[in-house]
Parts: sequence; C-alpha cells; structure tokens
Amino acid sequence: MSMVQGFDRKDVMYSLRNDIFNLILFPTEECNFRCVYCYEDFEVGNMPRWLVDAIKQLLTHKVQKLKCLSLSWFGGEPLVAKQILFEIAEHAYELCQQYDCKMIGDVTTNGFLLDTGTLARLVSLNQTRFQISIDGDEEVHNQTRITKNGRGSFTRIWQRLMDAAATDLEFHIILRIHVTDLNQEAIERFLKLYEQHLASDPRFSLFFKAISNLGGDQNKVQQLISKKSAANFVTELNARYYGDTSDKPNYICYASKPNSLAVRADGSLNKCTVALKDDINKVGRINEDGTLSLQHQKIGSWISGFDTLDKWRLGCPLSYLNAHPEKKNVTVGEINVIQVA
Ligand code: SF4
Repeated sequence: MSMVQGFDRKDVMYSLRNDIFNLILFPTEECNFRCVYCYEDFEVGNMPRWLVDAIKQLLTHKVQKLKCLSLSWFGGEPLVAKQILFEIAEHAYELCQQYDCKMIGDVTTNGFLLDTGTLARLVSLNQTRFQISIDGDEEVHNQTRITKNGRGSFTRIWQRLMDAAATDLEFHIILRIHVTDLNQEAIERFLKLYEQHLASDPRFSLFFKAISNLGGDQNKVQQLISKKSAANFVTELNARYYGDTSDKPNYICYASKPNSLAVRADGSLNKCTVALKDDINKVGRINEDGTLSLQHQKIGSWISGFDTLDKWRLGCPLSYLNAHPEKKNVTVGEINVIQVA
C-alpha cells in the first residue's frame, strides 16, 4: 500500500475526486429501538414525498458525471422506511446502469428488520455492506438495545444473522461490538457464539468500539462508562482478532471528504452524521428541483484537513472543530466543494 503522511494514498485521492460521490441518506429519523444511550430525539419522521423526488432529481443530474456513486443509509433506523430506501436505490441503480457508473452502498442498521428478502433486494441493488451494533450476549444486549415496545432485541437480530449466513448472497456484515467497562464478560460470551456460528464465514467481521458518552439517559449511561478499561479491552480484542494493526493507515471520516454529503429526512444537509444539531454541521439544504444550496464556508471547515493531512482533523473533523473554534467557517482554496447539480 502506498502511503502519504500515514494515510493510504488511494484513500486521499479518492476523497478528492469529483467523479466519485458519497451520498448519505436518512430515509427516516424514526427508529424501532430506544437504546439507552441514543443521541437522537426522533423529532423528524420519514422523508416527505417532495424530498424523495428531489433526491431522485439530484441523482439524475449527478450520476451522468460520475464514475462511482456510493449510497450510505442512516437513520433513525433506515429499514423502518424500506419503501423510501428502495425507491431511491432503484432509481440510482437504473441511472448507474444507463451511464456506466459503478454503484456501491452500505446500511447502518440495528438488524431487526433485515430479513433475507430485504437483504436479497438490497444486494441486488449493490447495497451490500451492513453495520449492525451488538452490546453483548442476549442478557446484556437486551438491557441497552431495547425495542420501542420495551422488549429485548437480541434473539431477533441473532436470527437475522443466522438466516443471512444460510444464504449464498454476497454481502458483508460488520458487527460493531460496543465495549464498556461492565459488559466485558458478556462480550466474551457473545464472541463464543460468534466463533461457533459465524467466524468461519468471510462475509462477517467484527469492529470493536469503546462506547463513549453519546447523550441519551445519562443516569443509565453513567453506569456503563469507564473508558479506560473499555479502551484497553478493545486493544486486547483487536490484537486477538486482527493481530498487529500498528501499520494500519489513518482513518479519513466521510465528513472530511469534499465528495461526501448527508441529506437528513427533513431535507437539511450535513457533513457529520452524529452532531445533527450543531450549527457548523448545518451546511445547506436540498431544493425541490434537486439542486443544492450550500454554505461553502462551513463546508470549508469540514474539508480543510486535506490542506495539511492532519490526522485528527481528517479522522474526526467534528471533535477537531469543537476543540479549535477559530477554524470554523473558512474559505477553501484549491479543493472542489461538492458541485451543485
Ligand atoms: S466527524 Fe467525528 S463524530 Fe462526525 S461522523 Fe466523523 S468521526 Fe463521527
């Protein structure tokens, strides 16, 4: 791998190309779960009709100029609004076929609604990568990952994973394992289950994440957080499953990339998918005709990490900007900000 200042050179180059576009979509901000640490307030529901049409128009203009379109589905829980997701994905797929544009996609989902029919339809539209969060074995996962009706979600999610494994579909499911100070025995019990049933299937992999304070019910969250030992446990788990990762290239968050943009379910545009209410993250709106009204100075502050290849700024521009407020609202020089369709 060719590197530049600790980054994969290809990753840097692809982040700056304007014939590649990463469109992050929130088809709904409603969720079928009420996780105890969730930072969302569920004020915005499904994308309204005008917005679905506007996104389709944006894609109609944009895909003609692209070599690669990447769709990322967020929420809320994106599969709560499957019909919206499929309508946009099918439109994008047809355009990509017509204009010889590569199309890829990923879904960040809690997995509850990912039945094999839905999975097959997504895979047929090249939406093949999935990230599903797990908080431990059944007992512990069910204390935090609670459905809207107040029930535990583990059994259903596990069944979805087993059903997916039984197909011959070509997908990749990353299990994002939330590690806290108190769930480590439960994580070990979950990993035993994983090793028995899924570890030998190359379509599944693990991503360990020490959980940080994301908002939600602080009393419950406080009981779960002890960053130090959770971080140490994550290091241990990474070494166990992935060996020495010290030469891994630095991560570039999509929020840093000039060719990446998120459309929320109310039509507002964001760079980061976490701090939805932060003013610096409100970078514009999509109009009814599919054109974009962008605040270029705000966008400039998200993408300026490419000027110096700063590891922190490219890895998490949100935390960098919060620590360096003087870097907010900058005029960008050479870098091409997302072109208005
Ligand atoms: S900017 Fe930071 S918080 Fe936002 S999506 Fe990127 S890594 Fe996550």
